[in-house]
Amino acid sequence: MEPDPTLVVAYASARAAVLERIAAACARVGREPASVKLIAVSKMVDAKRLRAAVAAGLTELGENRIQEAAAKAPLVPGAAWHLVGHLQGNKARLALGIFETIESVDSIELAQRLDRLVGEGAGATRLPILLQVNVDEDPAKDGFEADGLRSTLAAILTLPNVEVRGLMTVGRLAEAPGQARTTFAGLRAFSASLQADAPGLGPELSMGMSDDFEVAVEEGATIVRVGRAIFGERLQTDGPDHPGR
Ligand SMILES: *Cc1c(COP(=O)(O)O)cnc(C)c1O
Repeated sequence: MEPDPTLVVAYASARAAVLERIAAACARVGREPASVKLIAVSKMVDAKRLRAAVAAGLTELGENRIQEAAAKAPLVPGAAWHLVGHLQGNKARLALGIFETIESVDSIELAQRLDRLVGEGAGATRLPILLQVNVDEDPAKDGFEADGLRSTLAAILTLPNVEVRGLMTVGRLAEAPGQARTTFAGLRAFSASLQADAPGLGPELSMGMSDDFEVAVEEGATIVRVGRAIFGERLQTDGPDHPGR
């Protein structure tokens, strides 16, 4: 299980390049680079490559499919896994055995189920979660509608076994330049307005992917989820979050 040294060098340089771009985006808006966490989205990347990625310092990995993550996680020691795709209730228990953070909580029912399972001892003592928001009201996307979340947030914040660290969004596929910025600014403004009423909501903003993470950082992202800019193009389409890509 020794990582392939050639791959380690390649991923270390890919990581450095992305971190440099994050730092440059931070500099443009007067932010500290340390305020942005890089999640390497590793869907469709095999365990061999991921062992090299972890050795190169990419220790926080994002996956959107439970079965795929369940198969890879035991083969990739030293990684912390983030779920960034839709979680079906009947897979919640399995997910708790793998993921350190669930970024894609998209209904109160799912939040309640996770809370109950953690309370029964199925995972960490308090599970970090993000609430996925469909800020663009894009019918192709999962996530809370803004109004729906506004009315259920207080109930979610009372759940004792989940810690709501903040919000996450998946931007629309860029139709026009500037669309991504509107989405990211929208999530930041929405978070601020929710926090005014509900201080228990954490400040994290998970937004930005390979094509737009710098814009996301300029607009306040604290977590960016970057796949292709690190691992290269994926060979197939990768599920409902990215129709047609
Ligand atoms: C695939 C995926 C990413 C990463 O996308 P890239 O374009 O490869 O950077 C980020 N977030 C989610 C939810 C994803 O499904």
